[in-house]
Amino acid sequence: MSKQFDVVVIGGGPGGYIAAIRAAQLGFKVACIDEWKNDKGGPAPGGTCTNVGCIPSKALLQSSEHFEQAAHHFGDHGISLDNLQIDVAKMVGRKNTVVKQNNDGILYLFKKNKVTFFHGRGSFAKAVEGGYEINVAGAAADTLVAKQVILATGSNARALPGAPFDEEKILSNDGALRIGAVPAKLGVIGSGVIGLEMGSVWRRLGSEVTILEAMPGFLAAADEGVAKEALKAFTKQGLKFEFGVKIASVDAAGDGVAIAYTNAKGEEVTLAVDKLIVSIGRVPNTIGLNPEAVGLKLDERGAIVVDDECKTNLPGVWAVGDVVRGPMLAHKAEEEGVAVAERIAGQHGHVNFATIPWVIYTSPEIAWVGRTEQQLKAEGVAYKAGQFPFMANGRARALGDTTGFVKFLACAKTDEILGVHIVGPFASELIAEAVLAMEFKASAEDIARVCHAHPSLSEATKEAALAVDKRTLNF
Ligand code: FAD
Repeated sequence: MSKQFDVVVIGGGPGGYIAAIRAAQLGFKVACIDEWKNDKGGPAPGGTCTNVGCIPSKALLQSSEHFEQAAHHFGDHGISLDNLQIDVAKMVGRKNTVVKQNNDGILYLFKKNKVTFFHGRGSFAKAVEGGYEINVAGAAADTLVAKQVILATGSNARALPGAPFDEEKILSNDGALRIGAVPAKLGVIGSGVIGLEMGSVWRRLGSEVTILEAMPGFLAAADEGVAKEALKAFTKQGLKFEFGVKIASVDAAGDGVAIAYTNAKGEEVTLAVDKLIVSIGRVPNTIGLNPEAVGLKLDERGAIVVDDECKTNLPGVWAVGDVVRGPMLAHKAEEEGVAVAERIAGQHGHVNFATIPWVIYTSPEIAWVGRTEQQLKAEGVAYKAGQFPFMANGRARALGDTTGFVKFLACAKTDEILGVHIVGPFASELIAEAVLAMEFKASAEDIARVCHAHPSLSEATKEAALAVDKRTLNF
């Protein structure tokens, strides 16, 4: 006898588990199926984000930042240390504990919200009257029938052609988060968010890190001014970059990895490293979902085709997160999950793509929302810009972290905020004010007139808003 549910969610990452909780809050009988296994074969819901993405990378970034502070900056505070060491096994163990706390937290939330969890792989069996039959294979093998299905099956790391991940020497994000000892030489292919974050972790701990990038420039998606400032800071820290490279081959047959490439000048170069992280993007994942059984439409990239409301081509089947179009970000997946659950309940779920924040958790951190200066120029939008450096912010000086700035872009006519770009300390936290302001269609003047606590980094945001009208007070 199959088990009947109002809503079955396949995938327990940020898109799926949040959709399941919201649907349960709205009174539906909900199941969530997720196949991720922990080291002991048990359930580990939370998806890429919790297991091999956002959370573990931030745990390692934190540990390595402490090490970097102790090694290079404690002296400024009059703190001296002898014989500073990093115990990589302990650092990775702490990261694993943080991951487990998050896995357990999600299982607790399922119980609290009466979401039935199935540990295993979910796949379409067939369409049935009023819904879909879904098979669960694995630990919790079962057959479910759902009136509505939400697909949140995420994405996988893209491998370089001819260089499959072995997770020993050629690493995806998964292997990059499990390196057991500081590699003397680390190569990274791809200077996007993941490459920069992982490269920073191991550079801080002592690796010589070389990042190879196919694009001619750095961080094309970011505001040009921010990208320039960040590149200057990363280079000063010792990260080595090569742009405009064409990878010819990756050979992991010997002790380490040899990467042969043509550089921007057309010269043929071979880079020898101990380990190589390949971070060249991610591929939408529908492995094992059996979309053919019900005629679910995928695009040429393998993403599930959805409309603006996350509806697929099948009635009652929705898809959210990395497996559909749009930025591959956990908070985008969550927002879509909530919106879909609310739409199923007949409400007006909404996701504002124009105000999705982007964050890179390097040091300095990089964060932005809205359009960049180069985008506004290309679109012919008349705008005003205002910028304020952390160098002129008292809290940043007290922290000893004065790299970077906050930059506002506002409409020349109406003063509405069109974009906010931050490079510097705690940019990841500071950006929330800008997101809120843009969501409420605030003007730069609105922010300029809000009282910000002193001394705080957020005063740099207020000052950047004042700078739009050329009236900074502290610079
Ligand atoms: P996922 O998190 O990938 O979850 C999908 C889940 O579905 C997985 O558990 C998978 O096992 C399961 N699944 C798939 N198919 C089936 C099936 N047939 N049956 C059962 N289960 C199935 N984003 C940010 O916003 N901030 C960050 O700081 C950040 N850092 C990142 C760092 C790294 C190293 C990486 C790799 C990614 C990072 N991301 C970050 C991106 C973020 O992880 C993803 O955008 C997010 O996880 C997408 O959520 P999702 O729910 O769509 O998919």
